[in-house]
Amino acid sequence: MKKQNTTIPILGQRQSSAHPLSRAGGGTGVRANDGAGEGGEPGGVGDGAVGLSASRSLYIHVPFCFHKCHYCDFYSIVDARDRQGEFVERLIRELRGLSGWARGEPLRTIFVGGGTPSLLRPDLWRRLLGALGELFDLGEIRSGRGEFTVECNPETVTAELAGVLREGGVDRASVGAQSFDPRHLKTLERWHDPENVGRSLDVLRGAGIARTSIDLIFGIPGQTAADWREDLSRALSLGLSHLSCYNLTYEPNTAMTKRLSLGHFEAAEEDVELEMFADTARMLGGAGLARYEISNFAVRGQESRHNLAYWRQEQWLAAGPSASGHVGGWRWKNVARLDDYLNGEDGAGLPPAVDVEGPDVARALRERLMTGVRLAEGLDAAEMLGRARAVGGSQAEDRLAVAVEKLRREGLLEAEGPWRLTEAGVLLANRAATALMDAIDEG
Ligand code: SF4
Repeated sequence: MKKQNTTIPILGQRQSSAHPLSRAGGGTGVRANDGAGEGGEPGGVGDGAVGLSASRSLYIHVPFCFHKCHYCDFYSIVDARDRQGEFVERLIRELRGLSGWARGEPLRTIFVGGGTPSLLRPDLWRRLLGALGELFDLGEIRSGRGEFTVECNPETVTAELAGVLREGGVDRASVGAQSFDPRHLKTLERWHDPENVGRSLDVLRGAGIARTSIDLIFGIPGQTAADWREDLSRALSLGLSHLSCYNLTYEPNTAMTKRLSLGHFEAAEEDVELEMFADTARMLGGAGLARYEISNFAVRGQESRHNLAYWRQEQWLAAGPSASGHVGGWRWKNVARLDDYLNGEDGAGLPPAVDVEGPDVARALRERLMTGVRLAEGLDAAEMLGRARAVGGSQAEDRLAVAVEKLRREGLLEAEGPWRLTEAGVLLANRAATALMDAIDEG
């Protein structure tokens, strides 16, 4: 449902491989050292790699949608064969295979995205949530110190579903609103009734799911800055503690991008998008929702803990077709196609992985710079310079320091303290991130 933010792009070379966690025993063995590849094929993380901390976050991808929206590049399908039941059973076997990697520690965050997770039938949600509670320690989540988010389509939220979710530990919902203007929803090929956004939030809150967020998209063809301000006003009237506002992006290989290239419509003007971007921070900030990431705003303390785990480069497990995970410096993406996911399964219940990358300190630093500079909390200078030194000696450290100084002179990074974007820098975040990453690549 979201346009961004549940995965971090894999920056390195694509590889096809078995699942990197696919060692029988899933985290309970005694293997002491593995995974660096050491000049050969990556061997996998290795069960029980010494020093590997528990994975405390879990992403689950539910691939079903009513309809394939033409701007969407997430893996999702309109499933005419009704494989929901088969999917949930397969997912549970995968979760069993992953559960050892939590090392008996409680999970801190779970995020179920898609696709349209709220399209799963309530009885299947009950089955899935029951299995999660058996396989993982959800004590921290149930006590309110963790976070369990489910993405919802406004048309699919019922009192029954909301009750099942809450009973299973879900305490946060992210509703895909995108716009409150039917003209712009139509342009996006989103077919829900905008009135149902508020209704679904009421139902979720009524069931006890108190933390609520919605997604909005700006820069839709034909959308004016005044239209966007109206969307923001409508959103603010809903009493949200969190809001994600994404600039429409034309991803390669989507139907919408193809239509753009054929001249069926014109993309939004850049100066209109800049006005929308500025209005977003002004209006939301005025209502007490501060920007904590380029596209994300929250009342203090209501930030998405799960997404912060991605952006801070913590570890997370991943289940479901096309889900991306990060454990012990390894990155992988589960096979995407539903049939391949349902039918491909190793002895530990894990699916094949289509992109597997072993630990790589240079790549990890580039990723950290890319995502960390987008956060309002910024990046710790001493840590980043130390990591640059570990990657490429004092020359890499010097190059990074020079790049930071240049961005400061240009007014894009703050002069003191952590490396944080200025207001001008927020508008040019990609340029700033590229300059920092290039400093690691050069040499
Ligand atoms: S609802 Fe549309 S945008 Fe969301 S995942 Fe499904 S196809 Fe993609």
